[in-house]
Amino acid sequence: MSSFNLEALTVLVRRNVFKRMSSTEDLVLFHGGCHCGKIRFQVSTTPVVDVYNCNCSICRKKQNLHFVVPDDSFKLLQGEDNLTCYTFNQHKAKHLFCKTCGVQSFYKPRSNPNGYGVMPHCIDEDGPVLETNVKYFDGKNWEKSIVNSDILAKSEKR
Ligand SMILES: [Zn+2]
Repeated sequence: MSSFNLEALTVLVRRNVFKRMSSTEDLVLFHGGCHCGKIRFQVSTTPVVDVYNCNCSICRKKQNLHFVVPDDSFKLLQGEDNLTCYTFNQHKAKHLFCKTCGVQSFYKPRSNPNGYGVMPHCIDEDGPVLETNVKYFDGKNWEKSIVNSDILAKSEKR
């Protein structure tokens, strides 16, 4: 438990307190963004999402909890010119973040090049409630884990 980011967990737990009855198949439009407000996006997804908690070198350091949607379920509304990108190793994942406040609100994951990884903690608090179901992804052993994970299916077109 020591590797958890308590603040992120608190947000997730708080969101789970406000459970509501709904079909998990209905898509809901959520809005979100970075801290300073320059980056804004919308994402259409089920009201309950699987959030991946990965232990790879970068996810561990930035507590990169994320859910994955297909490309066409995500739309950047503003701030494209205020994004910067960090890549490393195979340079497949595009770790995008706001140049001003440093917050990563979404990115292109290595696991899902045809989708976006979205930070549930960057979804607006005054909008619809996003319920999260945290799953662990053993990114330290990425090649082994990816073939056994359901994360690949998350960016398939709905
Ligand atoms: Zn920002």
